[in-house]
Amino acid sequence: MTRPRHPDKDLERILKEAEDRGWRVERGKRYYKIYCPCPEMHKKSVHLTPSDPGYRRNLLGQLGRATCWCRESDEKPEGETRG
Ligand SMILES: [Zn+2]
Repeated sequence: MTRPRHPDKDLERILKEAEDRGWRVERGKRYYKIYCPCPEMHKKSVHLTPSDPGYRRNLLGQLGRATCWCRESDEKPEGETRG
């Protein structure tokens, strides 16, 4: 699978990790879009040139909260399966 690299190496690592997790990564004009493989089809955009120095951390936080990015961990006592 060939994909243009993200110019920011930290964000590139997130894209790569997303691919490793089975997410689909698409290159847009100003940002990448990543799509979760789960039935809920979570998606997130990753800016090409974020101006916020805390962008990567925020992005990871959002991924952890709003998608199943962190689902492999079983530290959560309750399962949120109702929708
Ligand atoms: Zn998901």
